[in-house]
Amino acid sequence: MPTIAEIISIGDELLYGQTLDTNAHWISGQLDLIGIKVKRRITIGDVEEEILSAFEEAEKRADIVLITGGLGPTNDDLTKPLLAKYFNVGFKLNASALDEITKLFESKGREITEPNRKQAELPENCTKLTNKMGTAPGMWFEERNTIFVSMPGVPYEMQEIMTSEVLPRLSEKFFSGIIIHKIIRTVGIPESTLAEKLIDWESNLPYPIRLAYLPSMGQVKLRLTAIGEDKKRLEDLVQEQVALAIPLIEKYVYGFDSDELEKVVGDMLLKSNKSIAFAESCTGGYLSHMVTSVPGSSAYFKGSIVSYDYDVKVNSLQVNKVEMEEKGAVSEEVVLQMAKAVRKHLNSDIGISISGIAGPGGGTEEKPVGTVWIAYADGEKTVAKKFNFSKDRILNIKFSALAALNMFRINFSSN
Ligand code: AMP
Ligand code: MG
Repeated sequence: MPTIAEIISIGDELLYGQTLDTNAHWISGQLDLIGIKVKRRITIGDVEEEILSAFEEAEKRADIVLITGGLGPTNDDLTKPLLAKYFNVGFKLNASALDEITKLFESKGREITEPNRKQAELPENCTKLTNKMGTAPGMWFEERNTIFVSMPGVPYEMQEIMTSEVLPRLSEKFFSGIIIHKIIRTVGIPESTLAEKLIDWESNLPYPIRLAYLPSMGQVKLRLTAIGEDKKRLEDLVQEQVALAIPLIEKYVYGFDSDELEKVVGDMLLKSNKSIAFAESCTGGYLSHMVTSVPGSSAYFKGSIVSYDYDVKVNSLQVNKVEMEEKGAVSEEVVLQMAKAVRKHLNSDIGISISGIAGPGGGTEEKPVGTVWIAYADGEKTVAKKFNFSKDRILNIKFSALAALNMFRINFSSN
């Protein structure tokens, strides 16, 4: 029988749609790594009856109940008093918690306030979990065969308490084996097509390897997981399968594990000592933003011309006005001119250009919203490609930038 966990996210802001419940998502991923099965996640508001009945129901179903939110020093935060009520216990000042809170205030040169002092008063039956990042301690309860853990809602505080206090305790109690994950990152191929290419490989995967397709915007990650006892054996087993999969999908694989496409592109440029520049129209600088998010990008990124307007395309990139009026700004001819021109103007080895119809307006029958042309020019090779993305403006911007990076990856050769 696997160990069963349930996650309860508490906070009105989650139900109003003001805050995305990233805590439950993150916790699920961490528990999966130590073989604990999350069976249910619940989101509730700061309401006494809702919280108490969520505790009661979760206790019936789960071995572990992880709770986030509702631990602030103010009156709208109810989790701590309700846990005491639920277990029918009183409060006790926890000297070590008070010490930690006092030190946290001292380190900021501030005096501790009364509401913060009260945060050191904890239900009598709990073990305090140190919160290095904030004033609300975490709490660990073991009652009637169920573990309850309460943590603050602030994501970085919760993650710190989970990492230093909760996960080590849970691993020790519930997990004796080893888990190996390997992620193969692909771009430019839909999940279903990828699955088709891998169908035979997948059906021959040996025990105990499990495969998951993790699609996100424009990318699909393949996660291979192996659970067992012998780390070296598991690693070898996973590596063998990765080596068999790669040749089947080679064109689409850009990296492994935590590699990001913009970083992989940066590394390719760095390694070959080449530079790049962009002419961006519908992405409005988003591609440049992605590339410059990578530390050290100044070594290869020259800059970009955001040529949104017709006049800028003509004046700053010398796009042929007559041709643009004839073919349209979203056309093969125009992106080719843009890529070649930006390469020259910004004195880079490679030029990439994007021109498309992000929407929601501006589409025609011939060029509907989501039509995007992207070009690559490196002095020898010049290519352009047309894409049809979505009806959504923001998605189109993101898809375009990703496709531009992928176009570089496919066409660039280091010599
Ligand atoms: P609390 O512990 O209830 O005082 O939560 C403090 C803050 O953490 C809230 O104002 C939210 O911005 C954030 N927060 C609470 N719960 C979550 C959650 N499940 N996921 C992400 N952020 C959260
Ligand atoms: Mg709250």
